[in-house]
Amino acid sequence: MHRPPPCPPYRGRFAPSPTGPLHLGSLVAALGSWLLAEQAGGQWWLRMEDLDPPREVAGAAQQQLATLHALGFRPAGPLEWQSRRSALYQTALERLLDEGKAFACHCSRSDLAASQGIHHRCRTGALRPDPAVRLRVAPGTVISFEDGLQGTVRQDVHAEVGDFVLRRADRLWAYQLAVVIDDADQGMTDIVRGADLVESTPRQILLQRALGLPTPRYLHLPLVVDAQGDKLSKSSAAPAVDAHAPLPALRAAWLALGQQPAALSVCSDGSSFLRSASTLFEPMRLPRRHSIPVAALHNTADTNAD
Ligand SMILES: [Zn+2]
Repeated sequence: MHRPPPCPPYRGRFAPSPTGPLHLGSLVAALGSWLLAEQAGGQWWLRMEDLDPPREVAGAAQQQLATLHALGFRPAGPLEWQSRRSALYQTALERLLDEGKAFACHCSRSDLAASQGIHHRCRTGALRPDPAVRLRVAPGTVISFEDGLQGTVRQDVHAEVGDFVLRRADRLWAYQLAVVIDDADQGMTDIVRGADLVESTPRQILLQRALGLPTPRYLHLPLVVDAQGDKLSKSSAAPAVDAHAPLPALRAAWLALGQQPAALSVCSDGSSFLRSASTLFEPMRLPRRHSIPVAALHNTADTNAD
């Protein structure tokens, strides 16, 4: 008699890009992904998404890792660096090309200007020495998925995105390909990240299907935004999380996750905060919103600061 295969264990990750020091916006994703993994009795891993050298800041990766360590975060698996995983991406790309699912594209940005940058067919006869490689997205390709927080997300990938880039003309790997390969290769079951990536998820699901890879569960946390409604990016004026005095940032992140502020008022350092947070965390309180203004968090967090 056959038994059904055991449910895969929960495995999630936090995957920052080394474009600056860790700030509140990325800390929300780190803490949220960690809390959900802890709550499920699962694992939480770290991955450095260092695919885009022109955007990276020297020393930022080590600084982010040191800050996460100082805050008490401990990954359960090996730390991966996307910059060291090109061979995996190359194998997947060649397979997609061999199967006719991807194609070399010689179009320039100006060739696609008339279609607002959306690629539905090649518009140039010119050949570039280093063409981009795109995934072919057939008309009528509609992807929908159930987000753990944002509800049903549906996207007509052909109409809204078009054939999308897997390897850029400058030979850098596109995020969409690398993240899909890595999540599958590392056995991720649950992807918890910022809501700015909701729009990318249908592309990733499409790629998983093209490569015969499993689709993990997705949950997109609200983004912390500034007064103008813009994401707190590492390149803007977002203050870095202070590794030596992390409690104000941890409390602000805890508030961004909709949790009870008073619950953690007695913690004295990052590790004791995380220990208490993992027992007090109430997933039902996670805000079903796309964004949260940073002012709403600092006002309350400051009153709790040491
Ligand atoms: Zn083209």
